[in-house]
Amino acid sequence: MGQGVLTTGFTRAGGKGVLQCEGVSLERVANDVGTPAYVYSSATMRDRYERLDRMLEPVPHRIHYTLKANSSRGLLEVLRALGAGADVVSGGELTRALRAGFAPRDIIFGGVGKTEAELAYALDADVLLVNVESEAELRTLDRLARDRGVTARVSIRVNPEITLETPHDYIKTGGRGHKFGVPYDDVVHVATIAAELGHVSLIGLDMHLGSQLTRIDPYREGVERLVAIHDELRGRGIDTIEYLDIGGGLGVRYDTEQPPDLERFASLVLPPVAKTGMTLIMEPGRFIVGNAAVLLARVLYRKRSGGKDYVVADAGMTELLRPSHYGAFHRVLAVRRRGETRRVDVVGPVCESGDFLALDRDVDDVQPGDYLAVCDVGAYGYVMASNYNSRLRPAEVLVDGDRFAVITQREEPEDLMRREVAAPHWLRGV
Ligand SMILES: *Cc1c(COP(=O)(O)O)cnc(C)c1O
Repeated sequence: MGQGVLTTGFTRAGGKGVLQCEGVSLERVANDVGTPAYVYSSATMRDRYERLDRMLEPVPHRIHYTLKANSSRGLLEVLRALGAGADVVSGGELTRALRAGFAPRDIIFGGVGKTEAELAYALDADVLLVNVESEAELRTLDRLARDRGVTARVSIRVNPEITLETPHDYIKTGGRGHKFGVPYDDVVHVATIAAELGHVSLIGLDMHLGSQLTRIDPYREGVERLVAIHDELRGRGIDTIEYLDIGGGLGVRYDTEQPPDLERFASLVLPPVAKTGMTLIMEPGRFIVGNAAVLLARVLYRKRSGGKDYVVADAGMTELLRPSHYGAFHRVLAVRRRGETRRVDVVGPVCESGDFLALDRDVDDVQPGDYLAVCDVGAYGYVMASNYNSRLRPAEVLVDGDRFAVITQREEPEDLMRREVAAPHWLRGV
């Protein structure tokens, strides 16, 4: 693999005892904080960030962590301290990034459907750049910048139109006909408009292929396509482009996947970038946080139904949507080993049959009261938690060495109803 042993923040004490996160027993966390709870290993996040940073060393580069994967302040602060920038896709994420202390010039703003209010917010905050996804958005941004007497720094999100394999269709984003970006054949036209408009400055080209990618070749192909556009634009006298943003998408291991080989990535992707002299931007999300967390849950009941064994846990699709939404695989471990295993479905308490964490899985023969750890849930876990069934979103706990702290409190029933209007103020509709 050429990238050494991946740090795993989660091990068993003495190789076989109670599961722990770095130096902290998960049983201790569960007893202290309660379940369900997300538990994050800061060492794992640091390891992934530094690994990527080293890999990109041969070229000028910036790593903008994608908040969409997990936007909790406690994690953002760990990444900011390492020197990461932020990649945001909504006004809400921009507020989170600023609140976590990211300098505006370390933030890039993307997304296929930004509102005028969001674009104005990005301009007023003076972010590093806005990734625009259509000619109409470019013109809107130009108008908003003109109103403010400023120039908007923009990058064009190019749809590289590369067909690739991802574990689920929902996480493909760079194929022909997808809603994202400017169609490849229109990019030069849109870039020419950008060069002519008075209040935008075209400083980047951007792409995002998809997520949970394990192959390197699509990145190489995408970079070549962006570089071709860059060269064509230069030929037309447009030489303002400083940034080549190749998005996120690097995959992680959930089961038996081979994570992308970073050395191969460096040898295939960096040389064509180096030739252009541009600064490379990456927007990793899953790669940084995916392996950095477990979801701690408690077994409520065991039951048998229709010849099947069920483990009913106090967490399900409301805490972790990925199994239900993407058919995603996550390992499920007993925090304290039972010795024997059982083939079971691990399900949650939500009133719907799509509410499961694992199907037909050999799991330790856990009993009510035992704790479970659902592994590798750092990315697209907590951020997709919902209040369906009026369930309370779980706590988040950050571990650093032998210390741990709650970084997001478990919700309380009041949180569910805070925005409800007890005495509605009726207005006439005609
Ligand atoms: C989701 C997303 C990312 C991050 O993707 P990962 O697969 O989590 O690395 C980066 N850039 C854009 C534009 C995205 O939509």
